[in-house]
Amino acid sequence: MKGETLAIHGGEKVKTKSFGTGRRFGTEELKELREALEQNTLFYHTGNKVTTFLKRFNELYGIQRSVATSSGTAAIHVALGAAGVSVGDEVITSPITDQGTLIGILYQNGIPVFADLDPRTYNLDPQSVADRITPKTKAILVVHLAGSPADMDPIMAIARRHGLKVIEDCAQSYLARYKGRLVGTIGDYGCFSTNDFKHISTGDGGIVTVNSGNEEEYRMVHAFADKNYQRWQGEVFRDLDYLAPNYRMTELQGAVGIAQLKKLPDIVRQRHRYGERITEGIRDLPGILPPRLCDGGWSSYWFYMFRLDQSRLNCSREQFSEALREEGIPNHPGYIPQVVYQQPMFQKRQAYLNSDFPFDLSGRAYPGGLCPVAEHILETAIRLPVSEFFTEEDAEDVIRGIRKVAGFYTSVGSYPSGNDVY
Ligand SMILES: *Cc1c(COP(=O)(O)O)cnc(C)c1O
Repeated sequence: MKGETLAIHGGEKVKTKSFGTGRRFGTEELKELREALEQNTLFYHTGNKVTTFLKRFNELYGIQRSVATSSGTAAIHVALGAAGVSVGDEVITSPITDQGTLIGILYQNGIPVFADLDPRTYNLDPQSVADRITPKTKAILVVHLAGSPADMDPIMAIARRHGLKVIEDCAQSYLARYKGRLVGTIGDYGCFSTNDFKHISTGDGGIVTVNSGNEEEYRMVHAFADKNYQRWQGEVFRDLDYLAPNYRMTELQGAVGIAQLKKLPDIVRQRHRYGERITEGIRDLPGILPPRLCDGGWSSYWFYMFRLDQSRLNCSREQFSEALREEGIPNHPGYIPQVVYQQPMFQKRQAYLNSDFPFDLSGRAYPGGLCPVAEHILETAIRLPVSEFFTEEDAEDVIRGIRKVAGFYTSVGSYPSGNDVY
């Protein structure tokens, strides 16, 4: 390693051949779309594309019941509504996630409560979840980040002990497994997104699983995604007891979803292999902390995120990222810029413009240091894109790039001393 000059210092780039690419949509999607249009209706309740999409999804997941929605955010909101989350209820969740995890909590006028994370899996630390429980806690919203399953056994045990609902946010974790079980089938509800950046895309869309399989509960979830209208076998009942949004999926999305689901197992296999290969290729490197999986975890790698051990490297995270990029390896320092509670919305306790409701129902504040491990993860992480089209050669190049950059910054000069060292 030592002898090689970094590309950032004028040396040769590690990666000279471009990453594998491919087309996500083809004749299969076109055929389904044509059929959808030929039905002469695009309404989910009269056509059969959304119904078929869900049927296939249920078969793939080995479950009885699920409901389609207009987005992953909508899926989570629907699950929260069906779980009975209402004004002033607390929902414990992860501070490293997409905004879509939080939107439904606040629209139900619930209070997001953030628990800290495991430093290597980036998922909820069950002990921290237990510490955040109060008499107002209604649900735990578990995020399975980047394809990696959260440690569900202790979380389910905590939930059972306190009579809480568990909602799994699986937007980034299709077909990820925990001790042999698929994530999204373990809690009360599993929520998925088919937005254009996820393992599979219908443009936008989502799915909620109803894991109890209970007919009454299923009807409640179904209605909550459709204005609380009760549509059964061609009939519609409009006795509305409480508020629910319209989050329906259209037949066009259902049609594309049918074709995409067929590709999902392969997509996941490719991503899994790629992610695992990278971990294997960098796990012995001083200064590099590859991601870990919880016991019994199997990841479908939506992205790949490792961390730097700053005490072993003579560079900042930003310098490392830049040097790696110059080697031809695209990457980003961190994931979201900050833990979610550091955004102005939480700092001002303002969900609705010019109002402090529902935050005013709670004494909770969101100071820096609330979840120190999560904050540290985002300060020390490097994120690499993953695609099912990347090749084994791409993985080897990425490994060589990381090894070259890490090798340089562990060998030069002394360990951190100067002001520019992070
Ligand atoms: C993408 C995503 C969502 C939201 O899904 P949308 O379909 O974009 O609404 C929610 N949670 C996580 C973790 C996500 O990655």
